[in-house]
Amino acid sequence: MSKTIKSIRGMHDVLPDESHQWQAFERIVRELMSAYGYREIRMPAVESTDLFCRSIGEVTDIVEKEMYTFEDRNGDMLTLRPEGTAGCVRAGIQHGILYNQVQRLWYLGPMFRHERPQKGRYRQFHQFGVETFGIATPDIDAELIIMTARLWKALQLADIRLELNTLGSNEARVAYRDILVEYLSDNRDQLDEDSLRRLGTNPLRILDSKNPEMTAVIERAPSLLDHLDSESVEDFDRLKQYLDAAAIEYTVNPRLVRGLDYYCKTVFEWVTDQLGAQGTVCAGGRYDGLVEQLGGKATPASGFALGIERLLAMREAADIDVPPDCPDVYLLLPGEASTRDGLPLAERLRDENPGMKILSNCGGGSFKSQMKKADKSGAAVALILGEDELAADAVTVKFLREQRQQQTISQSELSEFLKNNQV
Ligand code: ATP
Ligand code: MG
Repeated sequence: MSKTIKSIRGMHDVLPDESHQWQAFERIVRELMSAYGYREIRMPAVESTDLFCRSIGEVTDIVEKEMYTFEDRNGDMLTLRPEGTAGCVRAGIQHGILYNQVQRLWYLGPMFRHERPQKGRYRQFHQFGVETFGIATPDIDAELIIMTARLWKALQLADIRLELNTLGSNEARVAYRDILVEYLSDNRDQLDEDSLRRLGTNPLRILDSKNPEMTAVIERAPSLLDHLDSESVEDFDRLKQYLDAAAIEYTVNPRLVRGLDYYCKTVFEWVTDQLGAQGTVCAGGRYDGLVEQLGGKATPASGFALGIERLLAMREAADIDVPPDCPDVYLLLPGEASTRDGLPLAERLRDENPGMKILSNCGGGSFKSQMKKADKSGAAVALILGEDELAADAVTVKFLREQRQQQTISQSELSEFLKNNQV
């Protein structure tokens, strides 16, 4: 026998016993988005490698070590998208839907990063992301945060807390960078290899280090909050007022810098203690410079992305019950004549009862084995179209979940009967 082929490490199948959890999540997200007037955008899963280098930043974990990059048959360098913002901005510029307009957009789909797989960290994972364009004021940042808070409620999730920071304008950050480099250079002996390298290229990233041995030196570092421009401070204050008014709790975490280069001003993360080291479930912020950086006309922008696997893991841990999708009706078709008449009967039932879920027995089998399948399917009733029923243009209805007498009903009255019995 030849060796079976397995899925790629860190890339998982969603099996039929789990997919209803995903569908429930997606339904909640779609309803949320329409309740806030956001519209869906769908981008390709593959983009030019350049797009991610120019937007996420050359000296970031993603671009340095996590991207799936390959040369295609034309010799073009392509990358499986590691996140959605870059592609969304690319699409927005390409189709002229950003400049001088307001756009509130969302997307959902697989992302790819070559990381070490562990619980909550995969090589193919799924993000739901939201991006807004054309609004420079912090009211939109507040809306994004309020919207995510509503999402946690709709998902029935508690224990997710909000951390906020402001990165200041690009100019303020450049000034702070010099101060930070001076401090870190004085403490060179406490820096790990990654950080030593970043000292010369992207020192702010050092604050984002996940290495526990770096915690002490990072904690004593000068704070960006002491070196901000006045506009960023004002915007940040207004955001906090909006959140206070909406009764959204938060903590200001001056070490929050986010792992991507394109952020400025407000950044935020929603974190939980329930997922061990993979505690960030949602992250976002403002990225006013990115549209211009990618060749568009300057457009303010703000957004977030969240990891669907991590939220589903939280829902599972909290035992949130999503009923599996069962058929309403299982149609038993014992014999050739039953099958011939039964398939059109099922069609008629579907026509007469929109939304009714009908599973027809295919593949034959004895009456007994079909009955077993009916029971296992979770259907509320079994419809039996046996020889006697065929002769009488009738169907026998057997209630599978209630103690009730089975009944033989004429086919012309079947829909009415099922309706009256809440099937
Ligand atoms: P982390 O610090 O956990 O590596 P990140 O800063 O790289 O996260 P973002 O790029 O901000 O993550 O992505 C937004 C969200 O997507 C994260 O908060 C997380 O919930 C999810 N996410 C990121 N990478 C992965 C992954 N490899 N597997 C599963 N979920 C992920
Ligand atoms: Mg990461």
